[in-house]
Amino acid sequence: MKQTVKDLTDLKGTTVFVRVDYNVPIEKGAITDETRIRASLPTLAHLFKAGARVVLASHLGRPKKGPAPEFSLKPVAARLSEMTGRAVAMAPDCVGPEVKTMAAAVREGGALMLENVRFHPEEEKNDPSFAARLIADTGATVFVNDAFGSAHRAHASTEGVSHHVKVSVAGLLMERELKYLGMALEAPARPYVAILGGAKVSDKIQVIDNLLTRVDSLLIGGGMAYTFFRAKGLATAKSLVEQDKVDLARGLLDKGKGKIHLPVDHVVASEMAEGAQRQSLPVEQIPDGWMGLDIGPITAGVFGQAIRKAALAVWNGPMGVFEVKPFAEGTLAVARAMADSKGTTIVGGGDSVAAVTQMGLADRISHVSTGGGASLEFLSGEPLPGVACLKDAPG
Ligand code: AMP
Repeated sequence: MKQTVKDLTDLKGTTVFVRVDYNVPIEKGAITDETRIRASLPTLAHLFKAGARVVLASHLGRPKKGPAPEFSLKPVAARLSEMTGRAVAMAPDCVGPEVKTMAAAVREGGALMLENVRFHPEEEKNDPSFAARLIADTGATVFVNDAFGSAHRAHASTEGVSHHVKVSVAGLLMERELKYLGMALEAPARPYVAILGGAKVSDKIQVIDNLLTRVDSLLIGGGMAYTFFRAKGLATAKSLVEQDKVDLARGLLDKGKGKIHLPVDHVVASEMAEGAQRQSLPVEQIPDGWMGLDIGPITAGVFGQAIRKAALAVWNGPMGVFEVKPFAEGTLAVARAMADSKGTTIVGGGDSVAAVTQMGLADRISHVSTGGGASLEFLSGEPLPGVACLKDAPG
C-alpha cells in the first residue's frame, strides 16, 4: 500500500501540487460530464481543511500544437469554485513568472488551477527540467497524485514531479482504486473471470498475456475476437481483423488453452449502421462482404452465466459496436450480468463504464474504475509509474 494525504501531518501553509484527472468532456465551453471533478472533491476537502495551499494540475484532451482555447481548463476552475465554495484562481499557464506570482498568492485552504500541462510537449516526454519547473514555479513541497487514470504514463506531472518534492503520496481517489484493484491483483477471489472487449487486440496483448497467468477464465468479445477467429482459420469477411497480430493471437490461444473463451455466435450485418441487414449466426458463418458487430445471444448467455458465478469479475471493453443500437445487446447483457453477480465486480474503460452508467447499474458494481488503460495495466501486474513513485506505507 501507499501513503495517502491522510498520513501527512502539518499541512498548514504547505503548498501541495495535486495531479488530478480533469480530462472532462467540454462542449461549447460547458462541461457535459463532471464525474471526474466530483471524484476529486474528497482529496481537496481534506487538504483545504488541513490548511494546505493547493495547486491543481491536469491534462485535458490531446492538444498537439501548444496552447489552444478548446483545451483550456478554465471552465473546470470555474465549476470547481462553485462546487467547493472557494475561489479557485486560474493560471494562464502551468509554469512561468505569472504562475510563480499566483502560486505565492494562494491562501491557506485556497486553490490555484494550472493551465493544461499538455500545452507543453515536455509533459508527455517527462522532461526532468520541465518537472523541476512545475515544482519550483509553484513552490510545492508535497506531491499528491489523485489521477489514477493517468498513472500508467510516466509524464512530468504524474511521475517527474515526485523527484523534486519532499514527499509524494496518493490522493483519496487513488487510494480507493489501489484498494479495490489491489485485492484483485494480490489475492483474487476464485473463480476469477476477466471479460475483455473493444476494437483492438494490439492495445491489449500484454494485458491478455499477463491476465492469463492470474484468471480462471478470460472471456473475449468485441472487434478483437475477430483476430482470434482468423488465427483459428475461420472466415471473418469484412470484420475488424489486425492481420499483423494473427500470429500473436494464435500464441495467446495456445498459452490460454482452456482459459480463453471466444464467442460461439455473433451478430453480423451488411454495414455498421442502424438500418443495415443483420443476422445472428454461429461464428463459423459470415456472409461475404458482411461484418461481425456484436456477440450473439447464445454467447451473451454463456458469458453472463460465467460472470454471475464469478467470485471476482473484471470487465473492460464493449462486446460490440454498442454505440449503434442494434449491436448493443451483447454489451448490455454483460453489464446486467456484472450487476447481478454476487461476487466482487470491477468495471474499467470508458465504454464499459458508459454501458453500466447508461443502464443505471453503476451502483450495483463493486468498483467502477476511473482508469481504463491504467486499471488494465495494474491488473496485469505492470507497475504504474505514477503509483510506483509514491511513498510506501509502513509494513
Ligand atoms: P476500445 O477503445 O479498444 O475499448 O474499443 C472500443 C470500440 O470498439 C467501441 O467504439 C466499439 O464500437 C468498438 N467495437 C466493439 N466491437 C466491435 C466490432 N465487432 N467491430 C468493430 N468495432 C467494434
